[in-house]
Amino acid sequence: MPDNPGNAGSSLARFVRHTALMRALGFVAGAFGVASSLAGQGHPAWVLAVVWLNAVCWPLLAWRLVDVSLQPLRTEYRSLLVDTGMAGFWMAMTGFDLVPTAMMLAMMMMDRLIAGGWGLALRAFATMAAAALLTWIARGFPFHPHTSFRTMLWCMPFFVLYPLAIGAVAWRLTEHVRVRKRELEQDSRIDPQTGLATRRQWQAQVAAEVRRYRRYGTVASLMMVDIDHFKQVNDAAGHLAGDEVIRKVAACVLDSLRGGDAAGRFGGDEFGVLLPGTAREAALDLARRLADAVRACVLGGGRPVTLSIGVAQIGPGLDDFEAWTGAADAALYRAKLAGRDCVRD
Ligand code: GH3
Ligand code: MG
Repeated sequence: MPDNPGNAGSSLARFVRHTALMRALGFVAGAFGVASSLAGQGHPAWVLAVVWLNAVCWPLLAWRLVDVSLQPLRTEYRSLLVDTGMAGFWMAMTGFDLVPTAMMLAMMMMDRLIAGGWGLALRAFATMAAAALLTWIARGFPFHPHTSFRTMLWCMPFFVLYPLAIGAVAWRLTEHVRVRKRELEQDSRIDPQTGLATRRQWQAQVAAEVRRYRRYGTVASLMMVDIDHFKQVNDAAGHLAGDEVIRKVAACVLDSLRGGDAAGRFGGDEFGVLLPGTAREAALDLARRLADAVRACVLGGGRPVTLSIGVAQIGPGLDDFEAWTGAADAALYRAKLAGRDCVRD
């Protein structure tokens, strides 16, 4: 998915939405404690007005900056650092009033850690410390670490709401990762074009069948199926038509299976079919029926599509993965050499 914040489902859009919401919540909930601390120290009303302007206007401005930016991710990271500069400024303005200072420190570090790991958190800490130091020097080293009970109370909305919001964001992110992981696992098992198993998944099923044979001696056969002259289909009718032929052949392969059989796309125009409990003769019959079905109902480049199929039954000397699949491949090669449109074992 493209990283475009205009695309509501993109990872960047999600990231920007989360940071914007957390910024708005943190600044507004935090402003109560900071304003209370400054009011308690006798700061004039206009300073408190600046606290509230900062709390309300900066999150809106930061959101707008990302919206119009050509490099939204870079802009958002810069805003995350600007946040911490502002927090450092207000920490020093309160004379490092203990509870509001701890509140701002916790907010800044939690959010930056989630957004960019320790790297961003350390840079944010450095920005915050520099802003705090400069403000502290400029204001003549005010130091009022003792927090009044009233300020503690005004800090409560933050201490209750912010961890809840962080938890909700973390849960949503975890949920998103879980869903994506499931989708990726599914993609690695199922070939999206045909709905058959991927080569890797199919090979795992063949390997499991080999283990069953070694343990219980159960009979099984393999079919390797390849479309004849498929390049000519592509050349005559184009790649999209070629794709359609592959899909139709795969559908015929699926139709020919019984419960317990497993078909996989081996790659390109080649398919593998595992037939547990099926001996050589029955597998050859099935292969002929499949070839007939495809010849009867799939057209490629205006001509009926034909298949070459190699069959191999598991047995002594063919009781490991390489030997068994190799035998089916060799049989397929013989079918090609014999003029194609035929089945060999
Ligand atoms: P043969 O009878 O010897 O099998 O001849 P062939 O032309 O089928 O040769 P081969 O199997 O080697 O070539 C398969 C071609 O299939 C090569 C590749 O360009 C094409 N191909 C592979 N995957 C796809 C696909 O997903 N879609 C389309 N349209 N073509 C594909
Ligand atoms: Mg082919």
